[in-house]
Amino acid sequence: MKVRTAVFWFRRDLRLSDNRGLFHALSEQETVLPLFIFDSHILDQLPEDDARVTFIYQQLLQMRQVLREYNSSLLVQHGEPKSVFEALKARYDISAVYTNHDYEPYAIARDQQIAELLASHEIPFKSFKDQVIFEKDEVVKEDGSPYVVYTPYMKRWRAHFDASGHTRAAVSEKLLDKMIQNSSLPFPALEAIGFQYSMIQVPDYNVETNLIDRYESTRNFPGLENSTSRLGPHLRFGTVSVRQIVAKAASRSNDTFLKELIWREFFMQILWHFPNTPTQAFKPRYDRIEWRNKEEEFEKWKMGQTGYTLVDAGMRELNETGYMHNRVRMLVASFLCKHLLIDWRWGEAYFAEKLLDYEMSSNVGNWQWAAGSGVDAAPYFRIFNPISQIDKFDKDRKYTNHWVPEAKGQAMTDPIVDHKRARTRCLEIYKAALS
Ligand code: FAD
Repeated sequence: MKVRTAVFWFRRDLRLSDNRGLFHALSEQETVLPLFIFDSHILDQLPEDDARVTFIYQQLLQMRQVLREYNSSLLVQHGEPKSVFEALKARYDISAVYTNHDYEPYAIARDQQIAELLASHEIPFKSFKDQVIFEKDEVVKEDGSPYVVYTPYMKRWRAHFDASGHTRAAVSEKLLDKMIQNSSLPFPALEAIGFQYSMIQVPDYNVETNLIDRYESTRNFPGLENSTSRLGPHLRFGTVSVRQIVAKAASRSNDTFLKELIWREFFMQILWHFPNTPTQAFKPRYDRIEWRNKEEEFEKWKMGQTGYTLVDAGMRELNETGYMHNRVRMLVASFLCKHLLIDWRWGEAYFAEKLLDYEMSSNVGNWQWAAGSGVDAAPYFRIFNPISQIDKFDKDRKYTNHWVPEAKGQAMTDPIVDHKRARTRCLEIYKAALS
């Protein structure tokens, strides 16, 4: 006889505590089967030593370890979600499937497909808000249209925000004894799903009050240790609850850190309202720009060999660690689009491949910001100067000397393009497209 159980489907919420969908499953159902699917649609595009896959895998192992204390385990599958659910249905009498919302275009289509499959068998599919404080159209203008400029969005977000209500924990961790009693659910080896352990590890995050309080004055300097939280991958994969982080940020008097978390939600709602932005300029005129798209220049940019020391330092940091400081991300992105006139989509794709904290909404939003084509973007005539930026943000050369020691503290050595000429060329090409 098939075992009757509900299913909780983990995706980008890889934790057992303060997990909204999991909390609902455990409080509303008799027993819950925890499931994670390595989705072949996503995995097939990744290199076999992808550091994010390693991180996910390690997190799943840890969750299984905890669940074993409750005589339970974690079912890990590999394949297309639809076929996984079809196979599960043959083995279990599924009372309902629970999960948390995911707002990326692929995820929305996938969830729609799964919801339809389940509905055809009269199985409810229940999804919850978990990875943001405000989602979709919860923070919109009076007339119901989305905000496309950050500052008014942020003000409205803050006006709606009620710290005790919006950050209340969903205490899923207190209900784990309702997890299915089976301590040996299938859990394939990493190699069996076609991957190897990466040498790159996701570092822990730091949200000590000290860091939050100093953040405004330290966050712009890539050479300073512990000046930003390194929360990116943890928020991306849900290894921490956003409610817990926002509660902490909102409790401090300096609100610069909280505002960054609101940028994250700003771009999330932009992607939800404008799902074409990963491939199309938010401002359509910008798709008329005649990008030069020189492959050999793109290669040099990727490898950190443009001759501009701060740009090269950032790209080398990215290649080696899967991270790049925000200040430097802004510079390398501007440099690619404006100095080299390479399509922002190329840069976005390269970041998507390398960043541990890759988040489609933030990456696309920030790349379009750098190119000038996005919501609330930098005006096109604002072109970062890769020479003066180094004196502003890495005056003592701590960061650049580490990543580009051969530059010996100089701002440039044998540059790929002359800054002034590149600036004039950029203005001409942009003007021609936008006029
Ligand atoms: P902190 O400075 O400690 O900030 C805390 C958190 O606030 C971050 O983890 C992030 O969730 C959020 N945040 C901070 N700045 C931004 C921002 N500008 N936009 C959206 N959220 C923000 N961030 C990503 O999470 N994923 C990406 O794929 C990504 N791509 C980017 C691409 C470009 C070209 C640029 C300029 C920025 C990008 N960012 C992205 C934003 C930012 O650079 C990173 O969030 C930040 O550097 C991560 O380091 P941290 O976790 O120490 O952040």
